[in-house]
Amino acid sequence: MQVDILTLFPEMIQNACSHSIISRAISDNLVSVNAINPRDFTHSKHKKVDDTPYGGGAGMVLMCQPFLDALASVNRLDNSQTIILTPQGEPFNNSMAKEFAKKDQLIMICGHYEGFDERIRTLSNAKEVSIGDFVLTGGELPALCILDSTIRFIDGVLGKIASADYDSFEDGLLEYPQYTKPREYCGLKVPDVLLNGNHAEIAAWRKEQQILKTQKMRPDLWNKYTQNN
Ligand code: SAM
Repeated sequence: MQVDILTLFPEMIQNACSHSIISRAISDNLVSVNAINPRDFTHSKHKKVDDTPYGGGAGMVLMCQPFLDALASVNRLDNSQTIILTPQGEPFNNSMAKEFAKKDQLIMICGHYEGFDERIRTLSNAKEVSIGDFVLTGGELPALCILDSTIRFIDGVLGKIASADYDSFEDGLLEYPQYTKPREYCGLKVPDVLLNGNHAEIAAWRKEQQILKTQKMRPDLWNKYTQNN
């Protein structure tokens, strides 16, 4: 998958992509990440990318020209998805990540300061995506969240180290509790059922724990699960 990220802070993307699973996916040629700085496209002498808002108000608004020219410079593949990061967008989730993972290219546009001139949204024709009901200072962390979560669904990225199949949300529930060595820590013991080698009993216990956890932590998810099952 080709990933092109428009950002005023390319180092944030490059640094995050040089660790762990993302970095390995890049070395294995499963993903290629390219950060493009709209500041390199500005026509102004001082490389200006933002200006004061018409109508007044605090903060600076990102200007159309550098962002839309940077976007136009991206070589588009046929099966590509353009995303604009905004707290006003559709909430991101696992199903969206799976849809994005089917694409050959993701182009993500990160805002900063007070956000985008509205015409960037209109003219970019991008899908507006939010990572939650809170406001961050920029779109780089949301873009990285989307990148990280999406590539987990690309064949070969998780390899044998981990699998997305049993993670939270996969079957509409949260994941069951996990334990590793030692068997007892600070007086807390690993549940006996996990030590007895009976796979059917372990599976039944895990399912029960998934249900209890989801009911307690995410009643909204539990309601949805009961409607669909
Ligand atoms: N004034 C904007 C508003 O109220 O909708 C918020 C601008 S925010 C300070 C700056 C940039 O951070 C946004 O343009 C967007 O790219 C990014 N951002 C902040 N919170 C986000 C979220 N929850 N999801 C996606 N992007 C977000």
